[in-house]
Amino acid sequence: MFFPAYNPERTWDFKMHKKGRVIRCITKDATIVALAMDSTAIVSEAERIHKTSAVVTAGLGRLLTAASMMGIMLKGKDDSLTIKINGGGPAGTMMAVSDSTGNVRGYPVNSVVEIPLRADGKLDVGSAVGKKGLIYVMRDTGGAEPYIGCTPIVSGEIAEDITNYYANSEQLPTVCALGVLINPDLTVRVAGGLLIQLLPFCPENVIDRLERNTASLPSMTSMLDSGMSVTDILGKALDGFEYEIMDEYQPEYKCSCSRNRIERALSSMQPEEIRKLPDEHGMTEVTCHFCNHAYHFKGDDLEVLIKNQSND
Ligand SMILES: [Zn+2]
Repeated sequence: MFFPAYNPERTWDFKMHKKGRVIRCITKDATIVALAMDSTAIVSEAERIHKTSAVVTAGLGRLLTAASMMGIMLKGKDDSLTIKINGGGPAGTMMAVSDSTGNVRGYPVNSVVEIPLRADGKLDVGSAVGKKGLIYVMRDTGGAEPYIGCTPIVSGEIAEDITNYYANSEQLPTVCALGVLINPDLTVRVAGGLLIQLLPFCPENVIDRLERNTASLPSMTSMLDSGMSVTDILGKALDGFEYEIMDEYQPEYKCSCSRNRIERALSSMQPEEIRKLPDEHGMTEVTCHFCNHAYHFKGDDLEVLIKNQSND
């Protein structure tokens, strides 16, 4: 069975909930930090922008959800986080970039991948992403060089790859669950994630209890689809623990592009390369990968950029 191709005719109702919701909490004995996210609005927006097929919506949606929660874990207000995954599958490289309040943007190199569902009827994200390659996590904390960690892809299903990344690159035992449920018309029904980390010196009995809880936890999509809030989901994941909510965020799919930024990117090119850009009508169009916004430059605009280059 294949999902139908993208249908540009269908209508949208996601205006009602433009924002995601993330709750972060910590257990009273300070052994566990947990985040739960409803990313439905964010993944809907990604699907609207990139016109992704179902399996790419699911893969990119999981990546955006993970990046948003990991962004919230950043220490500095102006820090940012990038996750890049390329497993050699038909979706190509997928990228997500987030800030410290969980706002996130991303793109897949190939928006439309049509592959059969898995034997269990689920979208085959692992095959779309591929299993031969690396997952990179880059944290830009304002220093001269960003911190970059990477680990081999385990399954291409994203959540497992994030768990493995934390275990092997950062030595942080982590539970990660990510899910995107897609309607027959390819809109996003629900999307969300859970990220639980054990803090150093976490006692065995706490680990055992958490393992029992997570083993019996329904999937993210079934919990969200049954109407459970992120607070309810955290309550279920941390059943038996005393915890308090640290903070709450309402992140959005948010692009940071601007004409100014595009001009700076163009200015980094050689003058002869810049002059090759215009089409037969003398126009240059530069499209942002993250939001598909098109910026237009006339020949004169490019000459101004080149002139300013030599003034620098
Ligand atoms: Zn943009």
